[in-house]
Amino acid sequence: MARKTKKTKRKLAHPKFPMQQLLNLRHEGTHFDLRAIFHELNERHFRGRLRGYNVIWGRRRKHRPREQFIFGTIQEEDRVIRINPALDQPFVPLWFLRYVLYHEMLHSVVPDEMISGNRRRVHTEEFNRREREFPSYRRARRWEEENLSRFLR
Ligand SMILES: [Zn+2]
Repeated sequence: MARKTKKTKRKLAHPKFPMQQLLNLRHEGTHFDLRAIFHELNERHFRGRLRGYNVIWGRRRKHRPREQFIFGTIQEEDRVIRINPALDQPFVPLWFLRYVLYHEMLHSVVPDEMISGNRRRVHTEEFNRREREFPSYRRARRWEEENLSRFLR
């Protein structure tokens, strides 16, 4: 999506209800603005094909998970991509966050496959192939391996 929304001073001067403000700013973290990253990736890797998506930071958890850390999710029905807010930290490289977002965005363009017994395969061969095309794929996977423990208890 090439559309860029500019925040005007006029707009900012309008008072908003706290809840509304919260909803509007859920893409802006302390360190990273997900919407900006999403638009850049959409143009560069998907020819602007992903339309009408909301890309937001998920809810903060009180405790870090013990075993599994979910970096991001995509909900196709209502076009919401949620990124784990634990990634909104200064030690997380931008290129890693870009990879996480790219992975979720790829789900919206590569169809799932049905496998035996009504089960779905989301990380298909086609998906994996296209994921590896991402420029910093190897570096990102290595970073993930080396830093996963920082996100777990
Ligand atoms: Zn996935």
